[in-house]
Amino acid sequence: MRSFESELAALEQVSLRRSLSVFQPLGSSSLTSPLGQPLLNFASNDYLGFASSPELRDFLLEAVASHGAGSGASRLVCGTSQPHADLESALADFKHSEAALAFSSGYATAVGTLTAIASRDDILILDKLCHASLIDGARLSGATLRIFPHNDTARLESLLLWARRSANPNARIVVVTESIFSMDGDAAPLAEIIRLKDEHGALLLLDEAHGFGIFGPGGRGLAHALGLAHRVDLHMGTLSKAAGLHGGFVCGPRAFADLLINRARSFIYSTAPPPAIAAAATRVITSLLPGPLGESARARLLENLSLFSSLSSLPLPASPIVPIILGPESAALDAATALRAAGILAPAIRFPTVAKGKARLRLTFTASHSPDDIHHLVTSLRHLPAQSTHAVDVPANP
Ligand SMILES: *Cc1c(COP(=O)(O)O)cnc(C)c1O
Repeated sequence: MRSFESELAALEQVSLRRSLSVFQPLGSSSLTSPLGQPLLNFASNDYLGFASSPELRDFLLEAVASHGAGSGASRLVCGTSQPHADLESALADFKHSEAALAFSSGYATAVGTLTAIASRDDILILDKLCHASLIDGARLSGATLRIFPHNDTARLESLLLWARRSANPNARIVVVTESIFSMDGDAAPLAEIIRLKDEHGALLLLDEAHGFGIFGPGGRGLAHALGLAHRVDLHMGTLSKAAGLHGGFVCGPRAFADLLINRARSFIYSTAPPPAIAAAATRVITSLLPGPLGESARARLLENLSLFSSLSSLPLPASPIVPIILGPESAALDAATALRAAGILAPAIRFPTVAKGKARLRLTFTASHSPDDIHHLVTSLRHLPAQSTHAVDVPANP
C-alpha cells in the first residue's frame, strides 16, 4: 500500500505541494507571516474590508450577546431560529427574489443546490472555469455533465441545442456559470448567456461569489448592475468574501427554496450556522452593504484599481481579482517568493485550482489598501526575477 509520505513527495517534486501558514492580522491591509515578517495582503477576498472592520465586529459581538454561540441542531430539526428566518427574508428582498436559503458555506450551497435540482436524467452545462464547488456538486448530482470553453457562448449554444434534442421533455437543463470568475477575475457574457438559456428552455444558476457586495446598486451583484437580475433563475452567493462574514446562500422562486429544504443534503444533514452569524449577516445586507460604509468602500476599491492601472499601464481590471499568468508552476512559485521577500503576500495559484501550465499570481485588491500599498506592489512587480518579468509585462517607465 502506498504511503502518505510518498504522495506528498510526488507533489513536492512537481511544485504542487501546499501547506498551511499561520498569519496574524496587522492593521486592515497587512499580515504578519509565521516568521514575523510584515506583509501587505494582496491575497484576501475581503474586498470591502468588512471582515476586519470595527462595525462588523460590533454587530457580531452584539449578536453573540443576544443569540449565544451554537445553534444546537440542523435547520429542519430545531436549529432554525429567528435570525435564520430574518437573514433569508433580507437576502430575498435584497436580491429581489421570491425566496432565499442560507447554507453554512458557499461550498455547501453549490453542492447542496446542484444535487437537489439535478439528477440522472438531467443535464448540467458548466463553464470550463467554474469553481470546484460547482464542479463537485455537478458530479455528485449524477446528471449528465457538459463543459463549454470559458465564456464561449457559441459552444454553449451548440450544447444547449444538443441537450434539447437528447433530453426527455421532463428533464431539467441548467446552465451554471459565475458572474466574476474566481481565478481570472473576468466577467461572464451574461446578456448573451441569458438570451441563449431562454431560447433553449434552460435554467441559469449564477454564482456571484465575487460579484456580490461589489457590483450593482448596494452591491447586489453583477446581474443587478446589468439590469438582468430578473432574468437569472437562481442566484448563488457567499457571505464570506465581500460581506466579510461566513456562509453561503441561494435565491430563487419559493418552490425552488422549498425543494432544497427537502433535498439539499448539505443543508439537511448539517448543523445550522450559529444564529449570531445569521443576525450579523442580516445587518451587513440591510445596512452595511447598501449604506454609506458600503458605498465608500466600493469607491475606495475602484480608486485602488484605477491607481494600479495607471501605475502599471495595464488596463483597468474588470474586478478586484487580477491574475498575472506566469505559466509553469515553478515560475509562479518563484514570483510569489520574490514578492514575499519584498513584503507582499500574493499567492501562487497552481493546478488543480487552475489548469496545468497556467500557474499564476492572483492579486486581489481591497478597499483597505492605501495608495502607498499599490505603489509598492507595482514597484515590486517590476522587480520580479528575470524569467517572470516578461510575463508580468509591467512597463519600466509608465
Ligand atoms: C469562494 C467561492 C465559493 C465557496 O464559497 P465559501 O463561502 O468560501 O465556501 C463558491 N463559488 C465561488 C465562485 C467561489 O469563489
